[in-house]
Amino acid sequence: MIYTLKNPIKNFPWGSRTAIFDYFGIENPNSDHQAELWMGAHPLASSSISVDGVEVHLCDVISQNPEYWLGKQAPTSIASLPFLMKILAAEEPLSIQVHPSKHGAEQGFALENKKAIPLDAASRNYKDDNHKPELVYAITPYLAMNGFREFESIVILFDCLNLISIEDIFAPFKSKPCSTSLKTFFSALLSLTGEKKDKAISELIYTLKINGSDFTEEVALVERFQKLYPKDIGLFSPFFLNVIELKPGEAMFLYAETPHAYIHGLGVEIMANSDNVLRAGLTPKHIDVEELVNNTKFEPIPFSDLRMKAESIEGREVYPIPVEDFKFDILTPGEGHDISVSSAEILLCLSGSVVVKVDSEIRLVTKGESVIFPAAIENYSVLGEGQLARAYY
Ligand SMILES: [Zn+2]
Repeated sequence: MIYTLKNPIKNFPWGSRTAIFDYFGIENPNSDHQAELWMGAHPLASSSISVDGVEVHLCDVISQNPEYWLGKQAPTSIASLPFLMKILAAEEPLSIQVHPSKHGAEQGFALENKKAIPLDAASRNYKDDNHKPELVYAITPYLAMNGFREFESIVILFDCLNLISIEDIFAPFKSKPCSTSLKTFFSALLSLTGEKKDKAISELIYTLKINGSDFTEEVALVERFQKLYPKDIGLFSPFFLNVIELKPGEAMFLYAETPHAYIHGLGVEIMANSDNVLRAGLTPKHIDVEELVNNTKFEPIPFSDLRMKAESIEGREVYPIPVEDFKFDILTPGEGHDISVSSAEILLCLSGSVVVKVDSEIRLVTKGESVIFPAAIENYSVLGEGQLARAYY
């Protein structure tokens, strides 16, 4: 059985009005800020499929027949798709964020439940008890920040900035750069309020105006952020975090407990089924510094490790995903490939068109279209000049 997905689109102020239509041809009649298109069975915004001519939510059909959809090998703990795949179109930057580890999410969720904080309260950090590792695959050039820079690089940047207003909080990190001193420095900066915060930000902006040529990449980002968040402590983020622009066809993984932000671009994102976000800047929302710092690993990621390299296996580019919640391949079928199935799978056509065949059932999937297979089909074949993103587990 091949089911064509009808997918909900989420509008957020940072979303692009044009990117999803321009690339995928998905209509946007009201010129909305189309930020995300969700492919999956998330109860808040589930994709739909047609069953005997009736449109039904994927989350409902899966819960009615979990073994058919999810497969025998699915862990008994999962009752629905363990992943969510999205098309993501960032015109403006998203907030800087950290996602908790599985253990951190379980503890945080239980504690907030115990305190009876409503799930939709602004002060609520944990929406569920799951972690949220992510992979992003660039369709257009995709600008982002991911992970702390090497300690020496952070020292050099702040040394060059030479900001008197934060000299006292930077000095201990400078004299002994390590993860403990970075934690202290980072949380002290995030905790600045009132006049001290205003002073630090003004001094940063002034210094970049005077000595901007020393930091061209960072200046461009700060200017971009400043237009939206003129007084946000996140203006310091490019001096702490790796700044990376993925080329189309490149991917990177975003680990738990690692600060990151998407800044601009169109991509496919796949993640574990969770909504747990701790914010660290570039946001009008409240930042819970203590909770954020407790869920952040203050370890650098070397820049050369940021891009995730896929392994080519029989017409598939297979990404070495380090978690069990999802797997992700790019398929270039050409003259044809058979693929065996042991979980529910979603295919999204990224370019051209591809013929998908299950037993005697044949479907042409064109750019922007997506289909889902239940685990019960066991295998399918693909053929044609196009490219597919494949999400499974
Ligand atoms: Zn994220």
